[in-house]
Order: sequence, then structure tokens, then C-alpha cells
Amino acid sequence: MTETTETKIDRKARLKIPFQPVPKQDPKERVKNWDEVYLGYDLATAKLEATRCIQCPAAPCIKACPLDNDIPGALLKLEEGDVLGAAEVFRSTNPAPDMCGRLCPQEALCEGDCVVGKVAIPVAIGKLEAFIADQQQAMGGRPIPQLPPPTGRRVAIVGSGPAGLAVAEQLALLGHGVKLFEAWPRPGGVLRYGIPGFKMDKRHIDDQVDYLHQLGVQFVFNVRVGYDVTIDELFDQGFDAVFLGQGAGQGNRLNVPGQDLEGIYMATEFLVRANLPPEELPNHLRKPIETGKRVVVIGGGDTAMDCVRSALRTGAGEVVCAYRRTEAEMGGRQEERQHAHEEGVLFHYLTIPIRFVAGDNDCVQAVRFQRAELGEPDESGRRKPVPVIGSEFELEADTVVIAIGYKVEKLLFQTTPDLEASDGGAVATDESGQSSRSGVFAAGDSVRGADLVVTALADAKRAAAAIDRYLRQMKSAAA
Ligand SMILES: Cc1cc2nc3c(=O)[nH]c(=O)nc-3n(C[C@H](O)[C@H](O)[C@H](O)COP(=O)(O)OP(=O)(O)OC[C@H]3O[C@@H](n4cnc5c(N)ncnc54)[C@H](O)[C@@H]3O)c2cc1C
Repeated sequence: MTETTETKIDRKARLKIPFQPVPKQDPKERVKNWDEVYLGYDLATAKLEATRCIQCPAAPCIKACPLDNDIPGALLKLEEGDVLGAAEVFRSTNPAPDMCGRLCPQEALCEGDCVVGKVAIPVAIGKLEAFIADQQQAMGGRPIPQLPPPTGRRVAIVGSGPAGLAVAEQLALLGHGVKLFEAWPRPGGVLRYGIPGFKMDKRHIDDQVDYLHQLGVQFVFNVRVGYDVTIDELFDQGFDAVFLGQGAGQGNRLNVPGQDLEGIYMATEFLVRANLPPEELPNHLRKPIETGKRVVVIGGGDTAMDCVRSALRTGAGEVVCAYRRTEAEMGGRQEERQHAHEEGVLFHYLTIPIRFVAGDNDCVQAVRFQRAELGEPDESGRRKPVPVIGSEFELEADTVVIAIGYKVEKLLFQTTPDLEASDGGAVATDESGQSSRSGVFAAGDSVRGADLVVTALADAKRAAAAIDRYLRQMKSAAA
């Protein structure tokens, strides 16, 4: 911030500006569609909300952002009416501000540390970030930069989730040849095959992919690396490095009796069959989901909230979220839980599923639970559910969805010699993203286990920088 600007900031006056909420779809209406809940700011309201930022010199919001976004810098530009300038500030550190603005748990990151939040509602940083990025897109999108001369080096990227897309962008901008291999029929990873449209419209993925096409990035779909082609074969085909951005896509099973009954789904299958058109799905998942009247979703994180809210939109009469601890221990965003409450989801806390009960034709008819009480904290720091003897009860269910977390698939470890896994079963890397295999790098959920879009992006940027160093060393060694 310049000295002139600093002297212009009247912090006391700024603190008096009331919080500007973003209009939302009415819950009764929005359960009938898959459109985003938030209708977005208009320019005048966005500028006013941006003016609530007191431009504090310490800017803890920047430190709380895994991407180090210059939030006060971008908001100052917005306040001055320079929306494209604001977009450039965000884009200088964030490959996907439209996505982060919609999906980040801001209350635990930038907005959680916002100084205004100590005396009032924090500045709506996420909603403003999304507004700024959307405005830039509406005004013609990001300018395509002049690319450097090709380096002649080629990188294969496994997976087109936020990590893979971010690495592709960074490397293409540095002049490297990039080809993305994706197991699903369309790009985006969990952004498409997980997160429903009411949280983020899929056009944001398409915008990013269009931009990457213009940078020369190539995409190959329906290819499962490790099965259709191995990492060794990719090197044999002439790739100089490989990036593993395969995420953590394997849903955790409950392992209680009856889990294979008809009508019981793992979260990802349920979400994609509920909210994606068949042509974007592999053949075996093309039949749209038919939820019965009563749906029980087991789990308490963001995925569980996406499932309960998707179930409502598929026409279920009653949707129950069954969670083994209490709301205080739930992992996902408070905002998403609030949306679920507003939309009519019922929450049953301190309930541990112990058995699925079969009805006719091996279809699920009920879930048998045991009540729990909270005990001592476990390794996650959250209080552990302790079963209460003699407290069993049943909830009727025509459809059950299991949303109790994800882990990294074993396939690439099984087919890639010398690729080491961490204790948790993810790809073991150093801080830069270098794996145990020379020339193989990884970042995002494939390294952290199931986490966040913003951490995947931040880690991916570090990995891209490490890949670039590796490729340039190769070049000088060959010279
Ligand atoms: C339902 C759901 C809701 C979520 N909601 C939020 C949210 O609101 N906010 C938030 O910040 N985070 C959320 N997350 C987490 C977030 O989506 C992930 O942390 C993020 O997508 C990780 O990015 P990634 O690129 O590492 O992996 P992914 O997005 O999982 O992408 C990995 C890609 O690799 C592909 N792939 C896997 N194996 C292979 C292979 N062998 N060959 C080729 N391709 C392969 C997959 O098909 C996939 O497209 C949510 C996750 C889920 C499941």
C-alpha cells in the first residue's frame, strides 16, 4: 500500500460500514434446482463490502491463506472500481480465485483471521474473491500471456483435479509441454465428480480448461494411469517428468453387516449419479439415481453435507444426516451445515451405525444404530464417540449414502516400482513434492489425503516449481 493510500484510510469510519450479505436463493426454491445457492454481489455492494477492509498493515488474512493472496491489495483495487486490477492481484498468486472464493472454508482461513472480525462480522473475502474473478470472466476472461519459447521438455500429469490443473498451468506458462491423463470422461476431479452445482457451477472448471487449452495443454480422458499405461511406460514414451495428482478418491467403507445391500451407495457414486448428466459419466454410472422417500446419509463432513443436500434435490421426502459425534466435532464448513438445516435436513448426532437391515429383494430397509456419548479426545483431537450399551434403535431408509472420508488408491504404488507411500497410505514426498522416484512429483490430496482445494493448489504450485527446476537441471546436464 502506498503512503498516500495509507493516509487516506479512515479505519474508524470503515468499521462503521455494515456487513453486506450476498443474496441467496430461498431454501424452498433452491431445493428444486442445482443452481448455486448464492446469487452474487452487484458492483456497488461489492465495492461497499470491500471498503469494510481496514487495510491493516499486519494483514493476518494473507498469512492465513495457503496461497498468500494479497487480499487487502485486491480489495483496495475493487473499492477503487478497478475490478480487472483486483482480479490480477488475486490471479498473481491463485490459479482459481473463482473456485476458492466459493469453496474455501474462509471462516478457518482468511476470514477467521480478519481483524474486522474481532469487533464485527469479518469482511466477506471469499464472496468478494468470487465476485472479482467472475467479473473478469464476464469481461472476456484472463488475458492469454505470451508464452516463452518451448523448452522441449514434456511432463505427464496424472489427474485433472485442482492440483493437476494448477501444475499444468504453471508448467505451460514456463514453456514446457504438458499432457494430462484423466481416468474420468471429463476434467476437474472432485470439482466435477463430487462437489455439486449448488456449491459451484461447473462452468468454472470449463473456463479453466479452456484457458489451459489456449496455453497448449493437452488432455486425454478415460485413461487410468497404472492400469491402462504405467508410469514407466510414460517415461518410455518420452515424458521427462510425471506429476501425480490422482487425489484421494477411494471412499472409506463402514464394514458393518449388510453394506452391499441394494440402495446403499458410496458418496462419490451417489453424488455423480445424482447431479451429473449421463454423458459425463462412465457407462456403469450412467443410470440416474432414484432415491426413495427416506434417505440416511452417514457421515458429518463436507461430503456428507453435499450428499444430504443432493438427496433433497433428487426428490427424497425425508433426509437424515447420521453422525457419530456432535455438531461441535463435525469436520466441514459451518455454512454448509447451515444450508442443510435451512433446506430441511434432519440431524441425528451421537449415532453409530452397526448394521444395515434388508427388506424385499435384498434392498436396504433400515439402518440399525447404537447411541453414543462423547469420551476422551482421539488422535484427531476430537472427542471420541463411546457406544452406550443397550441403546440400539433403527431408522427406516430406502436409500443410504456412506460419506465417511476418502483415502488414496493403491493402484499407482502397485504398478510403479520404488514409489513409496507415507504411513497414511498417501504418496511420500519431500516439501517440494519430489517423490521417492526420480522425476516423479506429487501434490494435493494424493500427498495430504483428503483435504481442501486451496491446499491442493498451493502444494501444486510448489511441485510445479520443483518440476521446472528438475527439467532445467536435466537440460543443463545434457548440454
Ligand atoms: C464431495 C466432496 C466435497 C468437497 N467439498 C469441498 C469444499 O467445499 N471445499 C474444499 O476446499 N474442498 C472440498 N473437498 C475436497 C477437495 O475437493 C479436494 O481436496 C481437492 O479436489 C483435491 O484436489 P486434487 O487435485 O488433489 O484431487 P482430485 O480433485 O481428487 O482429482 C484427482 C483426479 O485424478 C484422477 N485420477 C485418479 N487416479 C487416476 C489414475 N490412476 N489415472 C488417471 N487419473 C486418475 C481422478 O479421476 C480425479 O479427476 C471436497 C471433496 C469431496 C469429495
